[in-house]
Amino acid sequence: MGLRLYNTMSSRMEEFAPLVDREVRMYACGPTVYDYGHIGNFRTFIAVDILRRYLKQSGYAVKHVMNITDVDDKIIRNAARDGVTVQQYTAKYEKAFLEDAAMIGIEQPTLVRATEHIRQMAEFVAKLEKKGIAYRTDDGSYYFRIAKFPQYGKLSKKDFSGMVDGARVDVDEYEKDSARDFALWKSPKPGEASWETVIGRGRPGWHLECSVMSMQELGESFDLHAGGEDLVFPHHENEIAQSESLTGKPFAHFWFHARFLLVEGEKMSKSLGNFFTLRDLVLKGHKPSSIRYLLTSVPYRNQLNFTFDGLRQAAVSVERLRNFRSRLETGKFADGSNDEMQALGKETEERMRAALDDDLNTAQAQAAIFEMVRRANIALDSGQLRSNDGPGLVSALNSFDEIFAVLKDDDLPKMRHVLDWAKADGREEQVSPELRDLLRSGQLPDAEIERKISDMKAARAARNFQLSDSIRGELTAAGILVEITKNDIRWRRK
Ligand code: AMP
Ligand code: ZN
Repeated sequence: MGLRLYNTMSSRMEEFAPLVDREVRMYACGPTVYDYGHIGNFRTFIAVDILRRYLKQSGYAVKHVMNITDVDDKIIRNAARDGVTVQQYTAKYEKAFLEDAAMIGIEQPTLVRATEHIRQMAEFVAKLEKKGIAYRTDDGSYYFRIAKFPQYGKLSKKDFSGMVDGARVDVDEYEKDSARDFALWKSPKPGEASWETVIGRGRPGWHLECSVMSMQELGESFDLHAGGEDLVFPHHENEIAQSESLTGKPFAHFWFHARFLLVEGEKMSKSLGNFFTLRDLVLKGHKPSSIRYLLTSVPYRNQLNFTFDGLRQAAVSVERLRNFRSRLETGKFADGSNDEMQALGKETEERMRAALDDDLNTAQAQAAIFEMVRRANIALDSGQLRSNDGPGLVSALNSFDEIFAVLKDDDLPKMRHVLDWAKADGREEQVSPELRDLLRSGQLPDAEIERKISDMKAARAARNFQLSDSIRGELTAAGILVEITKNDIRWRRK
């Protein structure tokens, strides 16, 4: 059985099959770069990243395109407020977004910027006008006449039969039940960024941007289009209307929407004080791997309630996996193999695959790997794990990590980067003692730690437990976790 995905267009689960064999062309709506990305944004971007990684693991070549919305109503307003150009304003947030995405383990898609495709967008509007689908108003704006696209509403399942022909809306985001002709192109207003084009001076609407850039990069029909659930209407409905009325062909085959994230049971909002950017959490001392793990712990179409308790549990889960891997890699095992352990790795890989095939059920995939760790730890503790058993288990861990990307112990350098940014951006007061402590733990070089560990071993061999404890105390104070087992002493950074 292969991958099955829920398709918002058909409202049911469907067998995933790309239009061209073994090659997936997908487009995800990217960020509007007017502020730092919040954890809701990253829930959606990580859901798309999981999809991309799983398609690759399943043997598809993936062409994944994402737009950067670097001109829109909010950006223009904020840039004017700060007295800078649109480009100066967005450059800072685009850079921050790319850093954050890398920090949280998102593989970078092909990026396309709205402001670099203005000419193509104007030409697209000109073609729609020629077909009688777009019309110009007296001020030089252009609107899409939705009466010309009878299927309008097919994605959001809204019934717009009673709509008033010619009623218009000129903002990018509007009420959920509004069937109105929407702005394709906005005429210039004094002080706003605008471009000279074949249809006159102005700037593109947000919806137009995604239609033009996705088809340019992926063709008139492609496999999958993704975003958060808030984009179903009007954004994606409008993209479909623009694209299909121009080409007469189906636009995207699969529509993939991630459910909105809640924080402590509520919709995230600045006024409720439960609004967190990724950087806010890192400044509080939370590791990117814990955040990524938590954001994937509930399947993308289910409600995920972000809590700080959940985040702490996620950190423990990641730690458990990393410890298990280091036990496997550094332990010494008796020769031979254990049938149960031989089967366990393979079984776990199959269970993870079955879970992800089922509309990317990440929770089940995580449950499968934890079941493996639980059983293998029992075997390890009782000396039942043999030298030939390790590779199968490591292979299951690696398959897991190709998708979840949390096993590499590289949180501290990423967090240090956020600390540097906070200093440069005048946010020192937001840096928590937890983050400072954690970063201090990363300062002792490995070689020095190894030396202290061998001193501990020597002290213990000489039954000088006081000395061993005092070295351990030093290491703990420097943020190094030391674990003493029957035959060995292992260490890890916090
Ligand atoms: P924006 O930068 O606002 O254009 O949003 C970027 C992406 O984040 C879009 O796919 C949105 O649908 C998604 N998004 C925004 N808020 C949330 C949230 N609270 N939970 C999940 N996804 C969100
Ligand atoms: Zn879009």
